[in-house]
Amino acid sequence: MSKPIGGKVWLIGAGPGDVEMLTLKAVRALGEAQVVLIDDLVNREVLRFVKPQARVIEVGKRGGARSTPQAFIERKMLQLARQGLTVARVKGGDPYVFGRGGEEVKTLCRAGIAVEIVNGITAGLGVPAALGIPVTHRDFCRGVTFVTGNSRAGAQPNWRALAHSDTTLVIYMGLSNLAGIVGGLRDAGIPASMPVAVVQNGTLSTQRSVVSRLDQVVDAVAREGLASPALIVVGEVVRFAVRKDVRELSRKSA
Ligand code: SAH
Repeated sequence: MSKPIGGKVWLIGAGPGDVEMLTLKAVRALGEAQVVLIDDLVNREVLRFVKPQARVIEVGKRGGARSTPQAFIERKMLQLARQGLTVARVKGGDPYVFGRGGEEVKTLCRAGIAVEIVNGITAGLGVPAALGIPVTHRDFCRGVTFVTGNSRAGAQPNWRALAHSDTTLVIYMGLSNLAGIVGGLRDAGIPASMPVAVVQNGTLSTQRSVVSRLDQVVDAVAREGLASPALIVVGEVVRFAVRKDVRELSRKSA
């Protein structure tokens, strides 16, 4: 028997949700794939770019919910690529921003499998923009910081350092720890009146958001019943948030 020819893995970022935010490169890679491994955060509409004969495997990994262990996903990618197949691994946002892309690339490279990264628009950029929030604005901040609010491992970000960074804070995976995050930021000296936005399902037709202030946001989010996946944005730039969705407005005027 001849040795199997090594296949290839495309590690694709599908953007925050809206299928029109896919890159041209992502569309091409999806069209070349023989097998697609798709995360549960990814809008299923991306599958319209996949060949009809391609196999689609769902590999949800959302915290707490139905999930496929990371080790299984990595083994599956190796196994498929070793069969000589072209594999598209599709993740929400960007594969290298809180996406475990680094771990997967390491595993594939070690096994000698060709891998190509296709950047996606990370939620931290696309979701604030869907509300009209510019993550940087030279009149209000000196930059933007992407940080995880996930405190499952017990570790907390250095809120004190972040509070003094003069950057907009974009917090991923923070909703279940919102009260802890607010407490950390208040203790670090951020004023109670600091604007905060929390956005669920940003860029999708199911988008919901709360625009509030640090001392009121926990109650406001509870009242609205926002759920994951949600992004938290803290900073003066949140004042730019429009009451109605920019997207909704643009669709109506179209
Ligand atoms: N790689 C992804 C992030 C994965 S971590 C990226 O670059 O965007 C998952 C977290 O991303 C969620 O808990 C949430 O905080 C955020 N997120 C992803 N998509 C989102 C969306 N459409 N709306 C709001 N938050 C989102």
